Amino acid sequence: MAIKYPSEKLADQRIKASKHGYMPDWQLQVGRKRNLRYITDVKQIPQLNDEEHERLEQVSAVFRFRTNSYYLSLIDWDDPDDPIRKIVIPDPVELEDIDSELDASHEATITVAPGCEHKYEATALILISKICGGLCRFCFRKRIFMRHNEEISPNIDQAVEYIQNHKEINNVLLTGGDVFMLSTGKIKRVLQRMRNIPHIRSIRFGTKLLAFTPYRFLDDPELLDVLEENSHMNARIYITTHFNHINEISNVTLKAINMLLRRGLLLINQTPILAGVNDDPDTLSDLFNRLQEVGVPPYYIFQCRPTRGNAHFKVPVKRCIDVFERAKRKVSGIAKRLRYVGSHASGKIEILGYDDSFMYFRYHESKVLDYTGQFFKLPRKDDATWWDDWMPNGESFTLDTCPDVELGSGTM
Ligand code: SF4
Repeated sequence: MAIKYPSEKLADQRIKASKHGYMPDWQLQVGRKRNLRYITDVKQIPQLNDEEHERLEQVSAVFRFRTNSYYLSLIDWDDPDDPIRKIVIPDPVELEDIDSELDASHEATITVAPGCEHKYEATALILISKICGGLCRFCFRKRIFMRHNEEISPNIDQAVEYIQNHKEINNVLLTGGDVFMLSTGKIKRVLQRMRNIPHIRSIRFGTKLLAFTPYRFLDDPELLDVLEENSHMNARIYITTHFNHINEISNVTLKAINMLLRRGLLLINQTPILAGVNDDPDTLSDLFNRLQEVGVPPYYIFQCRPTRGNAHFKVPVKRCIDVFERAKRKVSGIAKRLRYVGSHASGKIEILGYDDSFMYFRYHESKVLDYTGQFFKLPRKDDATWWDDWMPNGESFTLDTCPDVELGSGTM
């Protein structure tokens, strides 16, 4: 039976009235049907003892906690190193990293209208949802879940106007937060507005709901209808998924992936390399192979963005190269197409390799358009986790100001 959605006004009232401050109508429906509960208080996790509850409460008072009963069911509580546990359960070490930046990629500097970012010529980001199906402990946008953050805008009027006036933009990424946390009616209206801009050729969604709450897709045929209607032979919709570990690909998730593929959506995956979650070649190759097998080819792996509270997830670039290259030996050519990149404030930097003296990079996309494709090298530094580590006094890396950078001749 199709889920009936109330008017947006009513849904908004329910959101405001919900105990945890945000409960769109589809969540109420799915929750009732599947006995799915959202959990925002660590004390509601029975597998943790009183002492753990107390310690983790101190962490969640600083960096919010949110998950749901389905995602918790994927954790093996007998394994203290369980990867899902690391992704979503707070860790006291987060409080040892409170001086790092909250906005590692300086997204505030590329915000051109409420909820709209424009960094690379052809691409605009619309940040429209202020919530995710869970909160990843390593999240690089955790600031948007904090109070008083206004980078997300549920009203996209100004974003649409900006994109209409910038004909060089030919693709849009709908993100946040997770857009699929919005009501289906809202998603439909946003898609219609994007489809009404003639120069927007490609639309992407960024989502981790296939890992956090795959029931969102299984239990809402209306959502699938909306996506199918807007993903047609002339212009498909891409869904960029966010699986970090093979344990997130449950049978429920497989069904949801299958339904999306059958409705004509194209799926690709991106994940950061995360210490203790997926930073070894076997774990990564298992993830890549499984994703490819089920129709979600790996697209990017990311260097973990250094964001307040996530230092314990960082893996040095040199070690990531080793892990990535070894993982690639065990996968097919399709999975090997993925690129290893870092979303730095100056641009998306592809990480190519190293030798005895240098580490090699290339701007996959650059904030300064002329540098897109620019090859460069930096002195080898085995403990560097971010390009700013090559800068004096912790300044932000740029090709123009880094004293040790050497540019390749021409572009690649
Ligand atoms: S899914 Fe993405 S935006 Fe949401 S909490 Fe995780 S890392 Fe952050």
